[in-house]
Amino acid sequence: MNERVRTACPYDCPDTCPLIVSPLPGGLLGIEANPDFTLGSNFICQKGARLDSIRRDPSRLKEPLMKDGVAWRPVSWDEAWSLWAERTMEATERWGPLSVFLSRGSGSLYFSKELIPRVFSAMGGYTTTKGSLCGAAGGAGLERAFGHRPVLLPGTVAENSRGLVLWGRNAAETNVHLLPIIDRIRDRGGRVVSVEVRETPTTRISERTWRVRPEGDGPLALLLCLSLLERGLASGQWRERVLNATAFEEMLLSLDRAEMERRAGLEANDIEVFADWFADSRPVCICPGYGVQRYLSGSDTFHYLAALSALLGGLEEKGGSVLFGKDEMALFPSGFLSRPSLARKIPVSGWYSTP
Ligand code: SF4
Repeated sequence: MNERVRTACPYDCPDTCPLIVSPLPGGLLGIEANPDFTLGSNFICQKGARLDSIRRDPSRLKEPLMKDGVAWRPVSWDEAWSLWAERTMEATERWGPLSVFLSRGSGSLYFSKELIPRVFSAMGGYTTTKGSLCGAAGGAGLERAFGHRPVLLPGTVAENSRGLVLWGRNAAETNVHLLPIIDRIRDRGGRVVSVEVRETPTTRISERTWRVRPEGDGPLALLLCLSLLERGLASGQWRERVLNATAFEEMLLSLDRAEMERRAGLEANDIEVFADWFADSRPVCICPGYGVQRYLSGSDTFHYLAALSALLGGLEEKGGSVLFGKDEMALFPSGFLSRPSLARKIPVSGWYSTP
């Protein structure tokens, strides 16, 4: 490689940073953010900056391996592709296209990955997984609540949100592109707090942290909804903007508060103070992390966070909503990259259901 190349970070990371890769002496590569495409944060994380050392690591896999008895042996790409084509055609002809199972990873997000199922579509169909162990449960909860995945662009949060809740999202350590947004919110007089199960570097950049029990996020969200409603702190318009408002209120009133507080690991006064913070910080962006939805009722937890956002005016105020990520597909027209062929989907987790 002897010239600068524009490319993107191949990691399974929603930021999908655009990169400039330049040749350096000794066969090394310089990796830096492409300033033409970043969403306001002209830097890449430590992991991205070390991409070249990973490329040069002697243990890096550079060729296909085939299991030969108990050991793996390297094979050429030609041999690997021929074997794949032969076995896939054999299975398709003998048992039909659903006998072919497609299992794929998530690096090189987003659209290049979407081309892979199209290869299998062209062969008549395939069996694959539904959902993921990553962010699908949270996405499903938001879709159930909003009817679609909400799209909240970083610039909208930076310029409009007055409050940001890092809810199980360890931004200081694992989501560094949120840090300039946090700075901008604070420059405008806004406030940033967190909900965490343990102390993290994000605790130190939060004005206040509410320490929740593992799996206590859903109960906490519901108790906050109840507190806002009972003390008249909810948006005046929320009832007109949602369906089943009365049923939702009745459900909240039927909760066993002591049990919910026990599950959240917080006392009534903690919840009241948090509800006051929400009411004083509108519009509030609730930014949940991936761990928050990795419980049996993870999709329900995200549904409750969406309800909390609706009570806070998130459906009518710019900068107030739920910012999760993995929602970029929502920016494209429905049917974009649709998959017309036969596909059987097997759920990979129980995180969608209520226990
Ligand atoms: S934040 Fe880091 S890992 Fe994520 S896309 Fe950017 S460089 Fe890659």
